[in-house]
Amino acid sequence: MDEQPDTKQIAVLGATGSIGTSCLDIVRAHPQKYQAFMLTAHSRWQELAKQSQEFVPTYAVLTGCRPQDIPAGAFPTATTLEFGEDRLAELVALPEVDTVITGIVGAAGLKGTWAAIEAGKTIGLANKETLVVAGPLVTKRVGETNSTLIPVDSEHSAIFQALQCGHREDLQRVILTASGGPFRTWDEEKLENVSIEDALAHPTWSMGPKITIDSATMMNKSLELIEARWLFDLTVDELAVVVHPESVVHSMVEYLDGSVLAQLSPPDMKLPIQYALSWPQRHDGVSPRLDIDNPFSLHFEPPDLERFPALKLGFEVAERGGTCGAVLNAANEVAVELFLNQKLKFTDISRLCRSVLRAHHFDSDPSMEDVLRLDSWARQEAYRWNSQCRSSALTPSSS
Ligand code: NAD
Ligand code: MG
Repeated sequence: MDEQPDTKQIAVLGATGSIGTSCLDIVRAHPQKYQAFMLTAHSRWQELAKQSQEFVPTYAVLTGCRPQDIPAGAFPTATTLEFGEDRLAELVALPEVDTVITGIVGAAGLKGTWAAIEAGKTIGLANKETLVVAGPLVTKRVGETNSTLIPVDSEHSAIFQALQCGHREDLQRVILTASGGPFRTWDEEKLENVSIEDALAHPTWSMGPKITIDSATMMNKSLELIEARWLFDLTVDELAVVVHPESVVHSMVEYLDGSVLAQLSPPDMKLPIQYALSWPQRHDGVSPRLDIDNPFSLHFEPPDLERFPALKLGFEVAERGGTCGAVLNAANEVAVELFLNQKLKFTDISRLCRSVLRAHHFDSDPSMEDVLRLDSWARQEAYRWNSQCRSSALTPSSS
């Protein structure tokens, strides 16, 4: 298809993941509006090759493979295949790129997002870890480079939309909704014996494994509180969480007069991704629509911070700021990996994170080097905590 003058050239970082494939569903449905200029993946080169055969991006980048791993002819001849995160960071800054969708999971997404910020791009931010790890540094640099961060996380997209209806000085608070995950109604005893299959069975959202486990512990809501704190420049007193099992109200903004504005749609990431691509405009889309011709109910309840201690950590970390976000995120990434490898109990995920947070040397105003150093330290400390607990006579729960 010929390129239209107003076609946006999109770089999709993490194209083979849940966010990446949803983004490509939108590109596929709107070829006149969006073209895939660059697609990246880590190690799933076969999937990236298949996507490249369909979308024929100018560049495809693999960050976790070597050139000799890829058979000749796997990628189309019109696509240049590149390797490594340094090359990803260079390519994302090319002048042809209009919008970058950051769908890489974990702190590994920071480098590409940072390169896009340095290049002054419009960024659809799915990789919440970027703001959790380095929120103040990121938002400061966004201001300096005139880049634009549009949230893709459904809660933050909802808040972003509801904030456009009022003035900052009239804001009372931002209320993030949480599905409550698969264990919303489980008691503490039952939570001690959660299996991987139980934790991966999210009731309303279909997502990658890391964020699905984070939703089960409610650490995802913690990461989102911290994300919202930096993205919208809020204090902890201006943040609240309400459990809403249907995941139809994606979040709400309360104004001084008591008016609460919400954004509603069925739980599907294509809508917030498309809004990030089309902003400030809107157009028709491929996301399911709210069905108001049939009866439906919406429920809300306060979160239980005792059964979901990971959420309590999120409020604490959002309040303290500084190095806490980087440490919490790194410890949690290791904890989730250990849980998925059956080396850590579900309820020990938050215990591990709390312990690593307590052990770290807090700095209220860290540099990027400090943050990256602490990210490595927290990972080592998390592994150490786990092996010490496994080898000692003490159970992890008692430490
Ligand atoms: P996923 O696991 O489905 O996909 C991750 C993508 O990142 C893949 O393309 C993978 O190849 C790539 N990747 C993995 N490790 C990498 C590394 N070390 N370096 C470079 N690339 C790497 O993840 P997802 O569920 O799509 O989530 C992606 C991001 O979006 C996360 O930050 C998540 O919190 C956020 N997010 C996801 C959803 C969702 O519905 N899935 C919703 C809101 C926010
Ligand atoms: Mg979310």
